[in-house]
Amino acid sequence: MARSPLAALSILSVPVHDVTYAETLDVLGEFIASGKPHQVCTVNPEFVMKARENPAFGAVLRGADLCLPDGVGLLWAAKLKGHRLRERVAGSTLMYPLAERAAQAGWRVFYLGAAPGIATKTAAILQARYPSLQVAGTYSGDDSPAESEKIIRLVHESRADVLLVAFGNPKQDFWIARYAQRLAVPVMVGVGGSFDFVAGVAKRAPLGWQKLGLEWLHRLLNEPKRWRRMLALPRFAWAVALERNSVVEWKDAVKKFSS
Ligand code: UDP
Repeated sequence: MARSPLAALSILSVPVHDVTYAETLDVLGEFIASGKPHQVCTVNPEFVMKARENPAFGAVLRGADLCLPDGVGLLWAAKLKGHRLRERVAGSTLMYPLAERAAQAGWRVFYLGAAPGIATKTAAILQARYPSLQVAGTYSGDDSPAESEKIIRLVHESRADVLLVAFGNPKQDFWIARYAQRLAVPVMVGVGGSFDFVAGVAKRAPLGWQKLGLEWLHRLLNEPKRWRRMLALPRFAWAVALERNSVVEWKDAVKKFSS
């Protein structure tokens, strides 16, 4: 039975799907069952602000099959404007339930990107936790044309069902969009710094901070070099609060883009 389209909001013209972790895993399962390539983006306020400055990035996000609400600021924006996103679905948290579901369902997962050795370490840690996880492959690599050709070969040989790409945003999302048809993996997700968290080279905020929606503050305190990047957060809040129609149902936004 065909599922009805997923509900999504347009937040400053970027789609954000209203999905929970459980629903995300089910949708990924449907993508895999279809066998066709699908792009998944882990959207947060920084993505939204980058998309405003870079229309090509906005087009990539609007072209993605699933845009996860990976940022508490998105939930806040929805609420402020009388809408609702039920749950934050963080790419770095999803790494674990995704590995668990992959182990149960026999999905083959390829870990691509991050600093040398990190993808392999990430896969090893997850495999130790979920012993039946099938790791299709791991590779550090980058988005250069020569490396991309090599990666496409490796990915084809690996028969991966899921390709997790940690090249940093927006690079990873542009890269997936560019090579999606050639990679032809049913689920391709840009996961940012998620491998660094699993591998333990970066520390996530304690659960209490996460529950209070303060993961961004923990990040700023631990990686003060990010302050310039993180100015996107107040700019995002400002734009959402002040602009009319900053948050609308996605189906209303589609009319705007197609007119
Ligand atoms: N990264 C990479 N190649 C690059 C830039 C970044 O592999 O040219 C990796 C980096 O090692 C780290 C991740 O991308 O693992 C960080 O991504 P991002 O900044 O998007 O992370 P987040 O916002 O999720 O922290």
